[in-house]
This record gives sequence, structure tokens and C-alpha cells, in this order.
Amino acid sequence: MTRGFLGLGSNLGDKRAHLEAALAALRREPSLEVRRVAGFYRTAPLGPVEQDWFLNTVAEIATDLPPRALLERCQAIEQALGRVRHERWGPRTIDLDLLWLDSGAVAEPGLTLPHPGMHQRSFVLEPLSELAPELQLHGYPLGHWRRQVESLGCVEVT
Ligand code: ATP
Ligand code: CA
Ligand code: CA
Repeated sequence: MTRGFLGLGSNLGDKRAHLEAALAALRREPSLEVRRVAGFYRTAPLGPVEQDWFLNTVAEIATDLPPRALLERCQAIEQALGRVRHERWGPRTIDLDLLWLDSGAVAEPGLTLPHPGMHQRSFVLEPLSELAPELQLHGYPLGHWRRQVESLGCVEVT
């Protein structure tokens, strides 16, 4: 089993219910264990699209699935929860990103690990540092990256 971290986010409708539903769906996956879940964080939206605030968290998993199969399971859960693809970075019922796998980096079309944006996003760094403060991204510990993005509003709500 490989340890990994998934990022969950929602900014449409009942955001908390969407995160809970995604976690429940992950727990039903046969070849995947949800080990721990961080607190839920309220975050201002990022990017060019005018939209509501986000609710984000990070889950620690353990899995035997290869990275590509794990991505496919996450995308299937997004679909099942009614995610409609409009524009990138636009509003969504649920976004499930693969952040990190202990098994190592991946650089393929359609799958990059560690997730390319994670070290610049407080809504990933804050919940992730609850679960794995020892993790190193691009040669620096999470605390280094957290100090770089401190100004972005991201508040724990649980
Ligand atoms: P971002 O990836 O910057 O957080 P996003 O989550 O809004 O943006 P999506 O529309 O959900 O982007 O996904 C776009 C594509 O990103 C997916 O089709 C997927 O193939 C690809 N992708 C690459 N690496 C990853 C990863 N580590 N986790 C999830 N998707 C990834
Ligand atoms: Ca994302
Ligand atoms: Ca995504």
C-alpha cells in the first residue's frame, strides 16, 4: 500500500455535503483506504472566474492502485457527484485532485505528481500540514511554502 494525499474542494451549493459525499464515495472504493481527513477550510476563490468561496480539505489515503487508475477513480467520483465541466478553475460541485503519492513523482500527459499548484495554494498547504507536516515539496518543507502564501485568506471552519 502506498500513502497518498487527495485535495477536495467544492464551491457550489451545499459545499460541506459535497465534501462529505466525496469522502463517503472514496471510503466505498475497494482498493483504497481513507486513513485521515484534515479540517475543512473556507477559502476565497482563485483565478479569473467570478465565483463563490470554496470549502477545501485534504484526505490521507492508502492504496494499491497505480496513479493513473487512482486519477480515474477520482474522476468517476466527480462525475457521480454531478460535476459538470464548464471552464477550468470555474465553479464546481466537487474537485478531487491527486496531490501526492509516496511512490514518487509522475510526469505524463494528464497526470502530474506532485500536483503542480499545491505548493502555492494555502487551501492545500493548510490542511495538508495538519496531516503530514514533514512532507517536502521541491526540496522545501511545507512550512517554507506556507510562509510564501500566507496572505491568501484561508480559515479553518471546523
Ligand atoms: P488545477 O489542476 O490547477 O487544480 P482544476 O482542478 O480546476 O485545476 P481540472 O479541470 O479538474 O483542473 O483538471 C484538468 C486536468 O488536470 C484533468 O483532466 C487531469 O487529467 C489533469 N491532472 C494533471 N495532474 C493532475 C493531478 N495530480 N490531479 C488531478 N488532475 C490532474
Ligand atoms: Ca484543482
Ligand atoms: Ca481537478
